[in-house]
Amino acid sequence: MQNINSGIHHLTVGGATVTALNDLVFEAGTGVVAGLPAEEADAILRGNFRRLPARITVSAFLITLGGQHILVDSGVGANMGGGQVRPRLARLGIDSNAIRTILITHAHVDHVSGLVDEHGGAYFPEAQIVLHEAEAGYWLDEAREAAAPEAVKGAFATARTALAPYRNRLKLVKDGQEAVPGLRARHFPGHTPGHSGWLLDQGSDALLIWGDIVHLPGLQFRQPKAGMLFDTDVEQARATRARVFDMAAADKLRVCGMHLDFPTFGHVVKAGEGYQFVPEVWMPTA
Ligand SMILES: [Zn+2]
Repeated sequence: MQNINSGIHHLTVGGATVTALNDLVFEAGTGVVAGLPAEEADAILRGNFRRLPARITVSAFLITLGGQHILVDSGVGANMGGGQVRPRLARLGIDSNAIRTILITHAHVDHVSGLVDEHGGAYFPEAQIVLHEAEAGYWLDEAREAAAPEAVKGAFATARTALAPYRNRLKLVKDGQEAVPGLRARHFPGHTPGHSGWLLDQGSDALLIWGDIVHLPGLQFRQPKAGMLFDTDVEQARATRARVFDMAAADKLRVCGMHLDFPTFGHVVKAGEGYQFVPEVWMPTA
């Protein structure tokens, strides 16, 4: 029996509306877990009533602020069997020409492939792409791509292809820099060198779109040590995850992320040796 869900969920944050757009859910398997024995990872997932092999949810976000539509990441596009970000934007009545700014957390396939159409052209012809300078510096470095191990070469090609039609309208930022008023980059390196969250600060209300701090919520809140084999630097990603969990819990900062369970909004609280994710309670309106 198919569960019918629109895959579209709105949340009000101050004067902004943030819309989670589910792109797809795919089977990842526990082979992707780094820094934790597979049996231990499976046991935690099973204890949290998760299906095995593990699934990874992918979402992107639309921020409507000051009359502008800002996309945060773009989903898989036509890769990985195709994603749902585009049809969901269409369902909201938002034409790809209406997106003028796209904030990127990092240049992996499930975040940037939606930037291009099937011919490699810009799917968002009017958009400027904003990403951390270290992310562009890493993936667009031809010498580094040539020297990369075979297993990683595909990731370089994906990033290069997705960013190619936007090369003359990339805006590169550093940690703390604003992309648009009220939205600033937070550099969370490790998963990739320039991996960044985007902090929407609306004064009395805020939301941290933390990118890929977590890939498997059924595992990594309970055991933050668990990383992903596709982290560029597993150790640095682990240290960053610890720092971001700590900050979100201490500051009671609302978060969301591309791989949290849809619709992904919630809070992080300390729980024993690890953490727990407390999902935002569903409301009929944003
Ligand atoms: Zn990802």
